[in-house]
Amino acid sequence: MREIRLHDTLTGKLLPLSLRDPGRVGIYACGPTVYSRIHIGNARPFVVFMLLKRFLEHEGLRGTLVINVTDVNDKIYDAARAEGRPSGELALQMTDRYRADTDALGLGRPDAEPLASETIGPIVEHIAALVDGGHAYAAEGDVYFRVRSDPGYGSLSHRRLENMDQGEEELNAYPPHDPTAARKEDPLDFALWKAHKPDEDTVWDSPWGPGRPGWHIECSAMAEQLLGVGFDIHGGGSDLVFPHHENEAAQTRAARGRELARLWVHNGMIQLTGEKMAKSAGNIAPLHEVLDRYGAQAVLMYLVSGHYRQPLAFSVEELQEAERKVHRIRDALRRLAPGEASPANMSAQREVFLDALANDFNTPAALAAMFDWVREANRRGSGVGDADLREMLGLLGLGGLTPLQVLGDVAVTDPDAVSLLGRREQARRERDFQAADRMREELRRRGWEIRDGPSGPELIPVAER
Ligand SMILES: [Zn+2]
Repeated sequence: MREIRLHDTLTGKLLPLSLRDPGRVGIYACGPTVYSRIHIGNARPFVVFMLLKRFLEHEGLRGTLVINVTDVNDKIYDAARAEGRPSGELALQMTDRYRADTDALGLGRPDAEPLASETIGPIVEHIAALVDGGHAYAAEGDVYFRVRSDPGYGSLSHRRLENMDQGEEELNAYPPHDPTAARKEDPLDFALWKAHKPDEDTVWDSPWGPGRPGWHIECSAMAEQLLGVGFDIHGGGSDLVFPHHENEAAQTRAARGRELARLWVHNGMIQLTGEKMAKSAGNIAPLHEVLDRYGAQAVLMYLVSGHYRQPLAFSVEELQEAERKVHRIRDALRRLAPGEASPANMSAQREVFLDALANDFNTPAALAAMFDWVREANRRGSGVGDADLREMLGLLGLGGLTPLQVLGDVAVTDPDAVSLLGRREQARRERDFQAADRMREELRRRGWEIRDGPSGPELIPVAER
């Protein structure tokens, strides 16, 4: 097994992966709050940690990946109220949509996807342990974590106590004008349990009265329940470092006397730039719309094209660039010998690829090595075995790529599609993008997807995406 190193947010260093249980790796990543369809930004941690687990298993480890679903939250109550629906019904529907939208990426599911609403018992137990230890206190039906009782508080996010603000979630709980803000001993403290409010339609019993959990406590409880304290990798978006992960770490340290995770790994944000997606309102790109338009393989190619820790620009241009990369690989696959071993003297690129993934999961460097392999295969002409390329593609979630179909096949099976393609190109030249979009949709209904090929646009069966 290669030495695997990952950047750890707590120490700020690239650290070797040292496992709690030899041969096994436990990963927990914070999942979505299900108040609406997820967007491309939510897909990034899903893809990063699904693929990281896949690589660690390739290296011989047995992996367990947990990605939770936050289905009790202020945002859900607010969205349900706005739609005049029960919050539980909205959360259930959006959980189903989240599963369907991420299923469409074709990466499979995490090993466990716990719901906050189904983890109330362990949450209450964890809070009780904090209260017993003097790290939390009840106040008129709420329970708060006593931040100053944890000497390690601030270590993960590298913040000093005076520069902290528990953020939106806590402001929502008790806005500054709300007299119940006085329930907190200290403004730094954050809610573990929130007393039932008349305008919230879900409620659970607890030793402190009816209410519901705060957001941070669910992850400490779920991670411990499914992976045990001191598991290997805690992941999530860099926007969660403070306060969410700082609070998770504090809750476990204070209740159990041990650190929650051995490594803290954070992915960068997706930044919307350039031309907006036509159907999207504002600057949000719902995952299902991006998938409808570009297909799972281009979306995955786009997501692995940037290093997970860096911000990633999202634009039509970026997605089109990813489509072109997918096209180049499918074009190469056309000339490769399927299911046959690759030449031993091409294995250097495979090694560079795997070493790049072992070195802080550097997917852009791995991708560059894979394209070096493709270039070399193209140079050698037809008949090169595809095994190495298939292995590399599989690790990037692109194992389903099929050899490109050439336009000649379409002309035989669906001549009308060819003329439609020609008319669409004409409309584009005349800058009648509405007509061009309509014809693209018509082609899709007929089962064809347009891709830019080396000699202009080509048609690919939709099933092949
Ligand atoms: Zn979390």
